[in-house]
Amino acid sequence: MASKRDYYEILGVSRTASRDEIKKAYRLLARRYHPDVSNEANADEMFKEVSEAYEVLSDDQKRTAYDRFGHAGVRGTGAGGFQDFGFGGVADIFEEFFGAGFGASRRRRRGPRRGADLRYDLNISFEDSVFGAEKEIEVRRPEICPTCNGTGAEPGTQPERCAHCNGSGEVRRVQQSILGQFVNVATCPICRGEGEVIPTPCNNCGGRKQVQQDRTMKVRIPAGIRSEQQIRLSGEGAPGTDGGPPGNLYVVVDVERHNIFQRRNDDILINLEINVAQAALGDEIVVPTVDGDASLKIPAGTQSGTVFRLRDRGVPHLNSNGRGDQLVMTQVVVPTNLSERQKELFEEMADSLGKAVVPQREKGFLNDLKDALGDMFGL
Ligand SMILES: [Zn+2]
Ligand SMILES: [Zn+2]
Repeated sequence: MASKRDYYEILGVSRTASRDEIKKAYRLLARRYHPDVSNEANADEMFKEVSEAYEVLSDDQKRTAYDRFGHAGVRGTGAGGFQDFGFGGVADIFEEFFGAGFGASRRRRRGPRRGADLRYDLNISFEDSVFGAEKEIEVRRPEICPTCNGTGAEPGTQPERCAHCNGSGEVRRVQQSILGQFVNVATCPICRGEGEVIPTPCNNCGGRKQVQQDRTMKVRIPAGIRSEQQIRLSGEGAPGTDGGPPGNLYVVVDVERHNIFQRRNDDILINLEINVAQAALGDEIVVPTVDGDASLKIPAGTQSGTVFRLRDRGVPHLNSNGRGDQLVMTQVVVPTNLSERQKELFEEMADSLGKAVVPQREKGFLNDLKDALGDMFGL
């Protein structure tokens, strides 16, 4: 191994240089030798060398060790020592120093990029949310142009290297400053960093490489889904660029309100009117459920606001077996427009029940309901 240069010499500072002087010297040299920026031969090596020198001299502990023992004092210190000083580490220091934007254009331009995720809003019925369904959706999304296969060039022609930046995608400008000269780099305005221009753009996409396509797709709606939940269709989003993978398509569900069923967690709530006689004498009544009609026995003396439970008639649990219940809340309806006969019967009943009324306690009927049901029916 060739003998290593002195760190102070590499940065061009004295052995008594302050932290600020060291920082300033590194900043200048790093700009000059950064491989994304520099035209100089051996820029990579020089950049590594100045970064290594800076890493040691900017750290008080390492600098002290270096001052006392030279290179031997800092070899193997830190994370693995400098033998493993990979380029990633150097780039990290550099970005910490100058911000990630500086010199990042090359990294941004090259290499595959994943396509964007897309969103599709889908309205489904209450029943579909309970039982699941398979839906067809029509999605308009960008796709790689089939005419040019994503090159942007008319078939039979080729993209050409950009003459303005010579294919690098960047233009460099030498700037003078009081600290010396450094090279400023910007994205090439002609090819927008692509390094290529298309002399004869594809007729189908106009050189944009992608076209909007309408696609019909099938979506499986799982039983038990609720509003705002989404279904991922992997790889059905926008295409990636430069060989990157496509994004995903997210189908976001909105469940329509049902006119009799209401959902709370995985239970289904229903409000059911019964008449005074059914409430007083009890009855077997027919109750609609999502599975069809079911029969429910209500006992004599059922009050308004009594809740009956029909087991396993609710919404299936989305990620496990089983399903919720249906809760039936009764509401006793007092008849209006009585026939003569009905009027007579009620008058007889009135005589037998007497005329006494019992004042309600301060807590009213609605409060009792709230206690019993929480926010179940939005009371
Ligand atoms: Zn095309
Ligand atoms: Zn260019």
